[in-house]
Amino acid sequence: MKIRIRDVVAGGYQIEYTIKPADIGLENEDFLDPEKPLKVSADLQKVDNVLIAQVHVIYTREAFCARCLEHFSRPAALQHEIDFDIVPGDEWVDLGERIREEMILEDMPRVLCRANCLGICPDCGADLNTEKCQCDVPLNGVMKKKRSQ
Ligand SMILES: [Zn+2]
Ligand SMILES: [Zn+2]
Repeated sequence: MKIRIRDVVAGGYQIEYTIKPADIGLENEDFLDPEKPLKVSADLQKVDNVLIAQVHVIYTREAFCARCLEHFSRPAALQHEIDFDIVPGDEWVDLGERIREEMILEDMPRVLCRANCLGICPDCGADLNTEKCQCDVPLNGVMKKKRSQ
C-alpha cells in the first residue's frame, strides 16, 4: 500500500481501503485469518519534511483464551500515528509495510474467551466451560487419584 507523496496536498489526504492480510504481507501471522479483511483508513498530512499518517485499522484478531486455551476471534482496532521522514527525491512511502510492523508489535493483553471463563482443570485438563471435571468426584467410592506430571 504505497502512497504517492505528491498526492498529500496542503489540505491533507485521506485514504480508505479494504484489504486482505496478504496485501501487506500478513498472510502468515497467527493473529489473523488470511480470509478476513482489514479495513484501513488514514489521514495524511505533510509538515515540512515529515509525512504524518493517522492510521486506523479495523480487523479481526484471532486469539487463544489465556485461561482455557480455546481459540476465538474478536473485533480489534489499531490506532496509530506513523511518521515518515521525507528526503528530496522520494516519491512514495510504503504505508502498508509500516502498518504490518505496527500490527505485529501490537501487544494483545491477556485475553479471555469470555469474562467468566472457568479455564481448564490443572490436573486432568478438562475444559471446565464445557465438561465437568472428574478429579474430585468419588469413583466407585474411592477418590480417583490425581494425575501428576
Ligand atoms: Zn476461555
Ligand atoms: Zn480435573
